[in-house]
Amino acid sequence: MAGTLTFTMIKPDAVSKNYTGAILQQICEAGFRIVAMKQLHLSAAKAGEFYAVHKERPFYGELVEFMSSGHIVAAILEKENAVESFRKLIGATNPANAEEGTIRKRFAESLGKNAIHGSDSDENAAIEGNFFFSGLERF
Ligand code: ATP
Ligand code: MG
Repeated sequence: MAGTLTFTMIKPDAVSKNYTGAILQQICEAGFRIVAMKQLHLSAAKAGEFYAVHKERPFYGELVEFMSSGHIVAAILEKENAVESFRKLIGATNPANAEEGTIRKRFAESLGKNAIHGSDSDENAAIEGNFFFSGLERF
């Protein structure tokens, strides 16, 4: 059975353009409940750890540099079938291929600067949520 939690980050491009409010509004209007949320600035080391699965990819350096270039907003979200439902809401990785009305179509500028992250499995949602939040920070 699909899980009810996913993890997201509003990425530095979107936070710096002041899209945080509009993106959170779209997320809440789509029926997600915010379980935990905070704004923070990742060090390059922490960003590298988060994206360690992509270590061997050619874009890893660029990705780590970008994700540590400014503030992000991290959150755990709850909804039925959360992971799949949220990936649908954010749209394709490359905003040029994202469906109309998706968060990446509306707010992302490029494949590298694509506004938002969404977990790709229940297992990764749990790992990623635990990376950022303790039990005391979840409601
Ligand atoms: P995310 O994990 O951030 O939600 P995703 O699951 O849609 O994105 P991944 O394949 O996990 O995509 O890639 C992680 C991130 O690395 C992407 O969001 C994108 O910003 C960047 N990325 C992926 N492929 C490329 C590429 N070919 N060139 C540059 N950056 C890329
Ligand atoms: Mg991914």
